[in-house]
Amino acid sequence: MTKPVILTGLRANNDLTLGNYFGGMLPIIDMAKTRSGDYQINMFIPDLHSFTTPIDHSALYEQILQTAKLFVAAGLPIEDENIHLYRQSYVPAHSELTWILDCFTGVGQMSRMTQFKDKSTGKDDVSVGLFNYPVLMAADILLYSATYVPVGDDQTQHLEFTRDIAERMNTRFGELFVVPEPVKKQHEFFGNDQGLRVMDLADPTKKMSKSARSEKGVIFLSDDPALAAKKVMSATTDDKAFVAYDPLEQPGISNLLQISALLAGDTLEATIERNAGQTRYGEFKAEVAKHVSDFLTSFQANLADVNEADILQKLEQSEMKMNNQANKTLYKVQQAVGLRPKA
Ligand code: AMP
Repeated sequence: MTKPVILTGLRANNDLTLGNYFGGMLPIIDMAKTRSGDYQINMFIPDLHSFTTPIDHSALYEQILQTAKLFVAAGLPIEDENIHLYRQSYVPAHSELTWILDCFTGVGQMSRMTQFKDKSTGKDDVSVGLFNYPVLMAADILLYSATYVPVGDDQTQHLEFTRDIAERMNTRFGELFVVPEPVKKQHEFFGNDQGLRVMDLADPTKKMSKSARSEKGVIFLSDDPALAAKKVMSATTDDKAFVAYDPLEQPGISNLLQISALLAGDTLEATIERNAGQTRYGEFKAEVAKHVSDFLTSFQANLADVNEADILQKLEQSEMKMNNQANKTLYKVQQAVGLRPKA
C-alpha cells in the first residue's frame, strides 16, 4: 500500500529572520519528523516559482542549495527515506503538466486570484508566470497525489483551484488525479496553531520581518551573535519596570518572554513564571540576549558543518524517485488528452 502524501514547498532565502525560523521552518521540520512513519513527505524547493517576479538570476542556483542547507542545519533529517527533498525544476513533469492544465484553465478564473491582483496592481512589468503560477502549484500537488498540503491564508484560493481543476479533469477524462483535502481539513490535520508571531524588537507592535524599514529590531539568522545581542539589549520596552506577559500593555517585554521561551525550548507559561516580578529590565534583557547569541552561534556552526555533497546526494536520490512517481501521473494525463496511445 502506498502511503498518503504530505507535500510542502520549502520557501527560503538568504536573509531569514528569527521569526521565519520559529514560525516557518521549525513547524515544517517538526511536521516532517512526526508524520514521516505514516506518510510520504514531499519537501520540494519551488525553484520555478522563484522568478514569477524579477530576481537576480546570478544568485539563484546558490540560493536553491542554501535553502536546502538551512533546513538541514535547522534539523531536517535527510537520512529519513520517507522524506523526499527535491528541486521542482529537476522533475520536468511539473512544467509539462502545467502546460496541459493551462489549456483547461479559463483566463477568467485565473484573473480572479486575489494574490495575483495584489501582486500585479499598479505594476507594469507583470509576467505571465505570475498570472499562471497557481496552475504550476496545482501540478506540484497533483503529480504526487498529495492529500495534505499546509496552506497559509494567501494560498487558500490556490488550493481550491487545485481541487477544482482536478475534479474537472476527473469528470471529463476519468480518474486521473487524487483531489487534495479541502482547506478546512488541511487546518484540522496540521493544527490551527498559526498564532506564533515573533515581533520586531524596535517596534514590538509589528511582526519581525526582513522587509522592516530598519534592521535594528530584526534578528537575522546570519547576524553576528554579538550584534544580535546588542539588538536585544536595545529592544523597546516600557516604563512599568515589572516583567509580565501582557502583549497589549507590554508588547516589548512580552515579545522578549516569547523569544526567551522559544530559544530555551521552554513553555511560555514556565518562562513567564520564572521571570514574573523581575524589576530590572537590563538583567532580563541580558539573559535573553545570551540565549539569542548562543542560539545563533550554534545555528551558524551547524550551517557551516552541513556537507554540501550529502545534500546533493539526497537531492539526486529524491529527484530520481520523484521523476518516477511524477512521470506515472503525467503519462496517464498524456494518454487521457490524446498525446500518448491508450493502454
Ligand atoms: P515570509 O518571510 O513573511 O514569507 O514568511 C515565511 C514563513 O515564516 C511563514 O510561515 C510565516 O508565518 C513565518 N514568519 C515570518 N515572519 C514571522 C514572525 N515574525 N513570527 C512568526 N512567524 C513568522
